[in-house]
Amino acid sequence: MERKESDIFPMEKALEMILMFDQKGTIFYGNTIAREKLEYENDLYGKNISDVFPNTFKNSEDGFETDFVFEDKVENIVAYRKNNTCFPVEAKIILSEELKDTYICMANDILEKEFLSREIEQVRQEAQQAAKVKSEFVANVTHELRTPVNGILGNVRELLSEEVEQRTEKGLRIIERCCGDMNKIINNILDFSKLEAGKFTFELCKFHFRNMLDYVKAQHINKITEKGLGFFMTVSPQVPEYIIGDELRIVQVLNNLLSNALKFTALGKITVEIFRTAQVNDKVELFFIVSDTGIGIDKTDKDKLFQSFSQVDASISRKYGGTGLGLNICKQLVELMGGRIEVESEKNKGSIFSFSIWVGVAEEDIALLQESDRKQSALSATFGIGDSNEDFDPVKEYGTRENQENLKRTLSKLILCVEMENWEKAEMFMETVKQLTEGAPREISRLILRLKMAIQKENYDKVVTEYKELTKVIEVK
Ligand code: ADP
Repeated sequence: MERKESDIFPMEKALEMILMFDQKGTIFYGNTIAREKLEYENDLYGKNISDVFPNTFKNSEDGFETDFVFEDKVENIVAYRKNNTCFPVEAKIILSEELKDTYICMANDILEKEFLSREIEQVRQEAQQAAKVKSEFVANVTHELRTPVNGILGNVRELLSEEVEQRTEKGLRIIERCCGDMNKIINNILDFSKLEAGKFTFELCKFHFRNMLDYVKAQHINKITEKGLGFFMTVSPQVPEYIIGDELRIVQVLNNLLSNALKFTALGKITVEIFRTAQVNDKVELFFIVSDTGIGIDKTDKDKLFQSFSQVDASISRKYGGTGLGLNICKQLVELMGGRIEVESEKNKGSIFSFSIWVGVAEEDIALLQESDRKQSALSATFGIGDSNEDFDPVKEYGTRENQENLKRTLSKLILCVEMENWEKAEMFMETVKQLTEGAPREISRLILRLKMAIQKENYDKVVTEYKELTKVIEVK
């Protein structure tokens, strides 16, 4: 049967190249774009498919040989023009069911795409190289800066240890403080460039967790008292006594959050709470909440907060100082420690920063931890990992004062996590709420179930409604 172009007319206008060939590989149709791209005219007809795709098809006596898979699959192959120059194509070749013994090849010229992707790759590599050079430069400069600053600091301290005039002492104290501030900035820039260059490493060791917290507290308590602020730090008893982690870096994150809380709070209090939120073999997840009653952060500025060099606005940096690197470094450190950092804040009401990290527990301490969990399950129900089937547990026995207080605390943490859209943590607190309301009246169990479902669906509005209902009914004051 003689085939005419008009029979297959719609293909003529297709955007991709279309070729048709028979069992022998003889091309009997090529649409306009195929003829244009391959630079043939009507002399395309009668050519063999191996003339167009010589790397993919080989002409043989009884047709053609090929490894090409005739499926609904796209493969990258090379097409040759009449003048033997070539270009890459994405091609799909099928054996037509309607047109007997006919192969249909659909192909797109991807020369430009390949060219662009090669260009993009080159630009990417250049950018990477430039970033590396920049990071190395920053690392060198900051390192060089640190030496003279420490030189000045050392000399000033030596002079201060001697008897000096009151006026001189005042001046020396100012120099000492300035050097301290400069060191902080240098350290931040150094950390930032190391993190950016992916050269950051953690130094893990076993340390006493609560002693570390005492050390952190000691660094801030004078300023806190000077400002007349309240300070409360609570650690859930289920947090292990010793942990394995990079103490310096955990201190750094806490210090940064506390310094900010202190910097931006004139009245009220600062609170630090720490929980153990998960355990997998010898790893535990610790969850920290640092809240203040300071100037707060506008909703629209919240997203900018963890970006580098970002301060909420210029007037803030003028008034309070800072480089805007602190929170970005915290975010990167926390993420490298397997966790995440979040913020919830309201302008003029205060801010709540929370972060989680995964730390290790030494083999010899795991048994101790399990033992203390067992004991504590009778005292505290916060994130119970221990035995929850105690005969009588004043905390868990619904309706007791301890139970209601614990319920109140847990619900407030739960709603805080919801506010921060940390649904995973909210679900954990929900588990504790469920344990604490075992044996509660049916009306309450129903509300608990609804709250749980709203949390699982991550439906903020519904959670808030159910939470309000629940707190009304159980009268958590
Ligand atoms: P810096 O190193 O300059 O303190 P940070 O990254 O730690 O920078 O903080 C960035 C900005 O985030 C601060 O300049 C401030 O605008 C805002 N911010 C951080 N913590 C608080 C807080 N507790 N209360 C109000 N604003 C805060």
